[in-house]
Amino acid sequence: MNPDLEKLIALQEADREIERLNQEIALLPRRVATIESKLADTRARIEKAKAAMAAAQKDRKKLDTEIQDHQQKISKYRDQSLAVKTNEQYKALLQEITFAEQAIRACEDKILDGMLAVETQEKNQKAAEAELKQEMAEIEKEKSEARARTEEDQKQLAEWAARRNLLRSEISADVVPYYDRVQTLRKSGIAEVHEDSKCSACNVMLRPQTYNEVRANDRVIACDSCGRILYYVPPPPEPEPAPGPAPAEAAQPAAESAS
Ligand SMILES: [Zn+2]
Repeated sequence: MNPDLEKLIALQEADREIERLNQEIALLPRRVATIESKLADTRARIEKAKAAMAAAQKDRKKLDTEIQDHQQKISKYRDQSLAVKTNEQYKALLQEITFAEQAIRACEDKILDGMLAVETQEKNQKAAEAELKQEMAEIEKEKSEARARTEEDQKQLAEWAARRNLLRSEISADVVPYYDRVQTLRKSGIAEVHEDSKCSACNVMLRPQTYNEVRANDRVIACDSCGRILYYVPPPPEPEPAPGPAPAEAAQPAAESAS
């Protein structure tokens, strides 16, 4: 094969690997970012549960104070009821006592509701804390994996870049800029031709003469249609006819030694 063609094939491989590695390096931090945003959500949930519990505790204190106030009123009304002169006054005080007792019951109902809410929030907080712990472990693992992978990719990238530079210095000086132009335009600068005599990249049939020239693989020829440099890949050799089944030799089990 023409040495330029051979090196162009290798150059294309180097270009593809460099592109793949660059893409991979760019994508690696995204997985970490996804978990990090999950982590922020979980932290927010914990904060929300804590705030809800603090609010419930504040409500509870307020309700306890209200109950005390009503109880004080009730005992005051009871004291007053001993000293009243008229039946009307007595009835009015009893009414006040009933109102205060109703208010106490309402407060007690609210306290009960609050306790149930706190229980739920406590469960939410515990669940979110467990999740956070797991996510933190996960993110550490992801981060160290991404770091290791990036390092490895960077190393490979440097190797491929060196290989690429060497190949470019070895390919005929007029061929490299041509390859670069087509590569920039079409994302690949070189294409295979198989027995169907088509350019495998743009799928256009080559003229018979061009096909014959490409088959020789002895010089740089471009596709008339897409401009990619063409090289011929012969079909894989026909597989040898499978030999008939080997005569089955029954494996004799090794005689067990008598112990
Ligand atoms: Zn083509």
